Amino acid sequence: MTREVRTRFAPSPTGDLHVGNIRTALFAWAYARHTNGKLIFRIEDTDRERVTDEYIGRAIDTLKWLGINWDEGPEIGGPYGPYLQSQRLEIYKDWAETILRNGDAYNCYCTTEELESRREAQREKNQAPGYDGKCRSLSDSDIKRYQDEGRKPVIRMRMPDGETKFRDLIRGEVVFEHKYVPDFVLMRADGSPLYTLAVAVDDVLMKITHVLRGEDLLSSTPRQIRVYQAMGVAESDIPEFAHLPFVMGTDNAKLSKRNGEVSIAWYREEGFLPEAICNYLALLGWSPGNDRENISMKELTELFTVDRVNSSPARFDMKKLEAINGDKIRALSITEFLERSLPFLLQDSVIKGTETEVSLVRKALPIIQERIIKLSEVVPMLSFLFKTKLEFDEETKSKLIEADSQKVLQNAVASLEALSDWSHTQIEEALRKSLLDGLGLKPRLAFGPVRIAVTGSPISPPLFESMEILGREVSMQRLREAIN
Ligand code: GLU
Repeated sequence: MTREVRTRFAPSPTGDLHVGNIRTALFAWAYARHTNGKLIFRIEDTDRERVTDEYIGRAIDTLKWLGINWDEGPEIGGPYGPYLQSQRLEIYKDWAETILRNGDAYNCYCTTEELESRREAQREKNQAPGYDGKCRSLSDSDIKRYQDEGRKPVIRMRMPDGETKFRDLIRGEVVFEHKYVPDFVLMRADGSPLYTLAVAVDDVLMKITHVLRGEDLLSSTPRQIRVYQAMGVAESDIPEFAHLPFVMGTDNAKLSKRNGEVSIAWYREEGFLPEAICNYLALLGWSPGNDRENISMKELTELFTVDRVNSSPARFDMKKLEAINGDKIRALSITEFLERSLPFLLQDSVIKGTETEVSLVRKALPIIQERIIKLSEVVPMLSFLFKTKLEFDEETKSKLIEADSQKVLQNAVASLEALSDWSHTQIEEALRKSLLDGLGLKPRLAFGPVRIAVTGSPISPPLFESMEILGREVSMQRLREAIN
């Protein structure tokens, strides 16, 4: 009988979730959905100084916004909760003590200073750094002496001789020789757990079958497997591991704040669509098997298999994300486009949200849908429609007061006054006739001043459509004002 897949996403949010976190969450989610399994969302918050409630709340919000859902988690509970490690401290303590009692771990009384000076000596002798096993077999009198000195022990795991071998679903067979995996701490003297203990205990108790996570955690795997074994987990019940490739920045260093934007909150503020972010992140290390680059969340769940994940690092490419975002924006219906654009316009106080304003936005969106790559661009693109008075920066203004521009504007007004129908086709026809044919100007010189006069900027959505949407009255008024 094959077991039901139970995979998990287990961040320690010490800030906003970043690109790497979300790529992991997305792959775990896609794997769970593809296999009809369960995704467990667990918060690894044993460090409550750095993992705050605010960050936890933001993590939940970000995942929901992206369309990544889970079956068990901190806010919905589930049969193996609680799903916040800070609420499970007693469980880890019990397990550390059980492992200690069984002899797989021992009390270690070494002080930080002692450890540091021995590490220094190892460095001098060019030996691999790590615990040297000093407290592995203390005599009763040693223990008594330490206790009399008031030392409080940590619980340290005993790594047996030999090696740990496992088959990573992405990397194939991985072997760690234990001479490079020194004895490690499970529990501090104050009873608080270390990551290696908590993660393994939870994966066992939450019946996790598949661990998909970043490659940075590969080297901690032999230690976790050791904890599973010490907990009495049968070899066949140890989860399968899939370590996802690093995400690199353009400079081939691991993606970080330094070489790229990492926080998903930033992408959201810029107006990247959740489906575009997921689509792009899905391609970071995985591919659907052909050159396809546009996939929906539903297709991702249908197509996602771990054997299509590449083991070599993936490169984050902003241009590609932008291209995908532009495609997804173009694929929106006008109603969807409107719904997603309004928050940007409201937030920047371009509009207050009245019915008249919203219907004007709806009218204008089709003319910019082909042209923007991020939703935030609706703000500079559409602001001109809602200004009671245009403001020009000095450079733009100087273009407007040039004699040639003034001449253009006078001709434009004259030709537009006579229009029977204020449609973009008629506006275009009239302006072409009066400015191109009449004044013999090239389009850029002819329409540039009109664009500035009407929209306040040399860059705008298509001019004639913009004028139609802005309406005859306001357009003419702006042209006339620019002449004075
Ligand atoms: N909490 C760990 C982190 O945020 C991940 C643990 C795991 O996936 O095993 O890096």
